[in-house]
Amino acid sequence: MTTRDGGHSAAPFDAFNLSGGVGDDPAAVTANREMLAGALGLAPNGVLWMHQVHGTGVTVVEGPADADIADTDALVTNRPGHALAVLAADCVPVLLADEQAGVIGAVHAGREGAVAGVLPAAIKAMTDLGARPEAMEVLLGPAICGGCYEVGGYVQAEVQEALPGSACRTRAGTPGVDLHQGLTGQLRALGVTSVAIDPRCTYEDPDLYSHRRDQPTGRFAAVTWLDDSA
Ligand SMILES: [Zn+2]
Repeated sequence: MTTRDGGHSAAPFDAFNLSGGVGDDPAAVTANREMLAGALGLAPNGVLWMHQVHGTGVTVVEGPADADIADTDALVTNRPGHALAVLAADCVPVLLADEQAGVIGAVHAGREGAVAGVLPAAIKAMTDLGARPEAMEVLLGPAICGGCYEVGGYVQAEVQEALPGSACRTRAGTPGVDLHQGLTGQLRALGVTSVAIDPRCTYEDPDLYSHRRDQPTGRFAAVTWLDDSA
């Protein structure tokens, strides 16, 4: 997980914004992405980025890409040597791995994509490559928490229907959505038993970007890769 620290972006995107789609200086984003790739020991194009659209599209990665992968919210691969990145600023970045099968995934699971089923779609693509849900380890990255994520009652009911267990009350006592809880339940229903949650709330933690707190703002990244030295 990256944070806001250490990059080249000026306010309000300061400083380690990794999204090319939020209005930041493209040269700063490129420099930040190259810093990240270098820190991982990868070539500048060794991290694969998505142009995320809150949908359910999954792309199976078979090699490096020199541009953001269009219209996709999940990347899956069994190839070592390049990293899969998901951008977030309140949505849940989800990282998945079946180490035995050597298959990984990175998923952008905001409210819309999660309701539409992006996570089951990614797990299906991983199982097509030989992974098994019961062998997967999943990390739900930092996101806006249920105490902060106020929604209308209709939206809460829609999310609860797709993701049972997600409905909650915010700290203000209004209808809320807890995506970490809802996605955990969805994963368990799919046979995934190893689910870890990064408890940081993007809305509350100034080290992370939050779309709901600050607009415009940047995006941090959750990144996963298969080590080719193994
Ligand atoms: Zn919160």
